[in-house]
Amino acid sequence: EAKRAGRGCLRFFDPAMQAAVEARSALEAELRTALACRQFQLVYQLQVGDRSAALGAEALVRWHHPQRGVIGPTEFIALAEETGLIVPLGRVLLEQVCEQLCAWERDADLDDLTVALNISARELHEPDFVDFVLATLARTGAPVRRLKLELTESALVGDVDDIAARMHRLRDHGVGFSLDDFGTGFSSLSYLKRLPFDQLKIDRSFVRDILEDTVDARLSRAIVALAASLGLSVVAEGVELAAQGDMLREFGCRQFQGFLYGVPMPAAEFSSVLRAARREAGAVV
Ligand code: C2E
Ligand code: MG
Ligand code: MG
Ligand code: MG
Repeated sequence: EAKRAGRGCLRFFDPAMQAAVEARSALEAELRTALACRQFQLVYQLQVGDRSAALGAEALVRWHHPQRGVIGPTEFIALAEETGLIVPLGRVLLEQVCEQLCAWERDADLDDLTVALNISARELHEPDFVDFVLATLARTGAPVRRLKLELTESALVGDVDDIAARMHRLRDHGVGFSLDDFGTGFSSLSYLKRLPFDQLKIDRSFVRDILEDTVDARLSRAIVALAASLGLSVVAEGVELAAQGDMLREFGCRQFQGFLYGVPMPAAEFSSVLRAARREAGAVV
């Protein structure tokens, strides 16, 4: 672009733009180091069913930066996707999730928990994605039926038949699929016909204003009805207030996730909080 603009074009030397380019490549270099130094850890956020019974957790990545402390995924996932680093990162995270599932499997108080892991488009479209997931499950001995993969609508672009084939191979082994951030993308409903999802996830943006905004309330109710008529389960994300959960329950939603039930926590903390709650409740939770 600088070339086409001709000689004497100062845009290329715009200090702000230059600084942004440098910051980006610095972050990319740091991401590579972080991966090699195992600075990525998953935190787990509770997902509950009827009467707040714990069903499992969504795993969410955190970067433990040696200088900057804990960094959330919104600050680095997009760059990891653009650079392709999401592929090796995703593999490390899948291994972590499988090891966690094994640890819970060995724990009589927690052996029924499921884990949902977010998968980016780049990961799903890797030629050996399915082989890697199946090999990791087999190598770790993780309970396959307890693993759920969350895909967003943006991951579903491209060859839908190929995506369907990948999903079917994993589903044949017992892996579940949830359609994350449902209703926020621009995909057509025909994806629901062609791809074997088990669950729709109502996006936080609908839940946030559900009590004040009748359109958000109606859309949430419509998503619950759509899921029911297709035989899919539905989980609402971003539930912060009891009244939001009550309204969603009235619409027929039976699974919930959000700060109301629990914030994302490191595995050890998640396990001990849940174990204590279950023992106190006589294993009802
Ligand atoms: P997501 O999959 O939709 O995850 C839900 C996000 O909402 C998480 O943010 C979670 O901490 C946040 N959240 C949960 N409950 C509440 C609530 O009640 N109120 C509010 N305000 N927020 C809530 P987080 O951890 O920052 O993750 C952001 C996004 O980054 C995720 O959105 C997902 O798209 C992506 N992501 C996170 N972990 C991974 C990962 O391991 N792999 C990939 N590929 N993407 C990931
Ligand atoms: Mg998710
Ligand atoms: Mg989501
Ligand atoms: Mg969301």
